Amino acid sequence: MRQYARIKEQHRDAILFFRMGDFYETFQDDAVTAARELGLTLTSRNNGGASEVPLAGVPVKAADGYVRKLVQKGYKVAICEQLEDPKQAIGIVDRGVVEVVTPGTALDEGLLERDRSTYLVALAADGAGKDARIGIAWVDASTGEFGVAEPEPASLCAEIQRLGPSELLVPSEWRGDRAGVQVGVAADLVAAPKALDHVKEWKPDLPVSLRDGWRFEAELGRGELCRRFGVQSLDGFGLGGFGAAVGAAGAIVAYLGEVQAAAMAGLRPPRALVAAEHIALDDATMANLELLEPLRDGGRRATLLGVVDRTTTAIGARLLRRWLARPLTDRDEIVARHQAVGSLVEDGIARQRLADALGTVYDVERLAGRAASGRATPRDLVALADTCRAVPVVRGIVEGLVAPRWAALLPRLHGHPEVLEIVDEAIVDEPPAVMGDGPVIREGFDEELDRARSARHDGRDWIARLQADERERTGIASLKVGFNKVFGYYLEVTKSHLSKVPPDWIRKQTIANGERYVTPELKQTEDEILGAEERIAAREAELFAEVRAQVGKHAAALQATADALAEVDVLCAFADVAARNRWCRPEMSDQVEIEIIGGRHPVVEEWLEGETFVPNDTHLAGAELLDHEPSSGAAQLMILTGPNMAGKSTYLRQIGLIQALAQMGSWIPAERARLGIVDRLFTRVGASDNLARGQSTFLVEMIETANILHNATDHSLVLLDEIGRGTSTFDGLAIAWSVSEWLHEGPAKPMTVFATHYHELTELESILARVRNYKVEVAEHGDEIVFLKRVSTGPSDRSYGIHVGRLAGLPDHVVKRAQEILQNLEAGEWSADRMPSLAPGELAPEWVLRVGEQITLFGAARPNPVVEKLERLDLDRLSPKQALEFLYEIQDDLES
Ligand code: ADP
Ligand code: MG
Repeated sequence: MRQYARIKEQHRDAILFFRMGDFYETFQDDAVTAARELGLTLTSRNNGGASEVPLAGVPVKAADGYVRKLVQKGYKVAICEQLEDPKQAIGIVDRGVVEVVTPGTALDEGLLERDRSTYLVALAADGAGKDARIGIAWVDASTGEFGVAEPEPASLCAEIQRLGPSELLVPSEWRGDRAGVQVGVAADLVAAPKALDHVKEWKPDLPVSLRDGWRFEAELGRGELCRRFGVQSLDGFGLGGFGAAVGAAGAIVAYLGEVQAAAMAGLRPPRALVAAEHIALDDATMANLELLEPLRDGGRRATLLGVVDRTTTAIGARLLRRWLARPLTDRDEIVARHQAVGSLVEDGIARQRLADALGTVYDVERLAGRAASGRATPRDLVALADTCRAVPVVRGIVEGLVAPRWAALLPRLHGHPEVLEIVDEAIVDEPPAVMGDGPVIREGFDEELDRARSARHDGRDWIARLQADERERTGIASLKVGFNKVFGYYLEVTKSHLSKVPPDWIRKQTIANGERYVTPELKQTEDEILGAEERIAAREAELFAEVRAQVGKHAAALQATADALAEVDVLCAFADVAARNRWCRPEMSDQVEIEIIGGRHPVVEEWLEGETFVPNDTHLAGAELLDHEPSSGAAQLMILTGPNMAGKSTYLRQIGLIQALAQMGSWIPAERARLGIVDRLFTRVGASDNLARGQSTFLVEMIETANILHNATDHSLVLLDEIGRGTSTFDGLAIAWSVSEWLHEGPAKPMTVFATHYHELTELESILARVRNYKVEVAEHGDEIVFLKRVSTGPSDRSYGIHVGRLAGLPDHVVKRAQEILQNLEAGEWSADRMPSLAPGELAPEWVLRVGEQITLFGAARPNPVVEKLERLDLDRLSPKQALEFLYEIQDDLES
């Protein structure tokens, strides 16, 4: 227990699996946790002391499954092995932790998802308060992918959500105590920088690992990285200007070395993510556009990912996710992808051949990672070799495609003949899944192994002949040669023949109807066989490790090929979806504009079974462009009205999705389009419309709106869906109105689409130059309302709500009364004091009249004297002088 306590002290944040013979035992609190989480029996052990120690154990053979279960629940498991052979140990067997399995660094296949990366994300802060920079570093231990960034505090959460970490690594000070190593969850980070608040809300139970703050210091990180990658300076990695991020990177490398040292061998040099190279998609936008995750149920099919993921390989599927979350801003890069997609859209045969060839490409990235970390199985190596064989086929097809991007990929589409040669020469065609379950190394690869194998073969051969030989020699026709684990080989003779047994046989065991014997020759041969088997196993293991290490040396090169293959796969997927769904290649413009003809919503379109999706056009342009060309018909701020269910939200998101898709390098669901490049894309949904984030409040909506108003630029695209709806009507309308004014007149004038049920906003068109009204059309067919889903210019008919109510069968009286109130409200809106009125009228019940009398205070229930006079006026009998006098008169009236 003293040994246990010493080791446990160093792994306080993990459940310690303490190897004792054929079991991993857990003690004390760990045992209680393990028993609860794994459904084990909790026993106790008395170690001679006064107290009983709780204990729970799992058999070593089944340990993988238990470890997996714990890690999936967010625990870390430290695997403590016996470091020497217990038979040879003097005193207590030496033990040590060989690996800590954590949610973010797991290498076990059962803990990895095929088409998404498993990230450990480290965060570090540089400076304090408002000037604090937050650095972020991430590692996928299974592939060696290593990235860093220093996002704006406002986009930190989005960055983290994009990565979707399985584990967070932060300075222990952030937890508000200085305990050092202890586990936690995101919600515990009480002393963390404010920028993390949102992360805590987003995933409160995200596992968090803590390490002392000094480990996150930039200087230390710089040293650690330079040493690790053998460089003098980090400038070559593009990390020259980074501080906090280098600190985070240093901490992550140190942590990885501590828990999963094997993965260090495959760690690739860090890549810096430069914010300006990507559209800053914030978390709300990614959620609202349903890029990767659906807002409500519907699963993957309800997301953009679900529609465009026609990738063949795991590496392609993971790259696609990254591309989807980070649309580009570089025009050349975008156009290069469009072009590359184009060559495959046109050439369906090449596309199919490419997909077929990619079908024999395995997860090279992870396989190479496993080879480097010494975890690859014999089958892994064969899969790598098969992939190497597939690369030239892929390459051959790519060579035939005409586009600069394809040409640029060629040098990296490398077949790695060295790897192929090593594996083909050394490993049998169909090796077992694990070592020891059959031959792994090929005949003829190693003389020593071959000698051992032939010795075993000779021995077995001798034994195989023994039965016949001895039957003949002894005349015992029923004599049998058998084998069991306890006694080894034996000769079995039934009772009736015992008399014929030769004297040199040695009796070994009595069975029900006979006896078993051995002979010295048999024992000797058996020893030879067993000895040979031991030699074979040892030699195979040795040779395999050598081969794996040799392959591991090529890991970095293999991963470069993996990257290229993944890109081929994604481009091919883009082409496939474009060809099948009749998408078009967008023309990328240098101006701030969005002109879409016949645009469709890629996901809704797929969902509509039977119905056809109604395509719609969009014309948006930046303020500068419109001021030069006011007659272009485009809007900078588009006010979109229409009744519920008309298709406003769908239209709005379709614009965002088309723009995002184009900048990812994909073709788009439209007839044709000319698109400028946007630097930011915001999509907001008003609180009460946002069902998915159930706890979402009006405050959140306003925080998000504030974020847009602060961060949008002249080059941004802002999509607002029912903003202001989460509060009372006048409040909400007032906010919607002033937000619109700001987007039109404020310091930044982003292209904006505002879908709203506030009909009043349509008035903006007559006041602000670059505002255009659009509506989603609705038609009435007898007793039915038909949503035409067609967007056209102009404001929508405001009384549709009442209309729908009538068709739905509201009592006649209610419908008529509603119309009356609506008219009064409209009149009120235009009254001199701009006060809307709660309307008395012919149909008003008595209590409303009473209320109406009381609120004459507001001047609303009274008929307007000016209006009354105007109504009485007979224009045909009015002289010019009388007209002038009348004007004076009503002006007096108004003043009084
Ligand atoms: P709103 O936001 O105006 O209430 P939605 O955008 O939510 O309306 O659309 C309502 C329904 O109409 C959606 O379920 C969608 O499937 C369908 N829809 C929307 N736009 C179209 C379209 N252009 N063509 C066909 N169906 C559409
Ligand atoms: Mg809507």
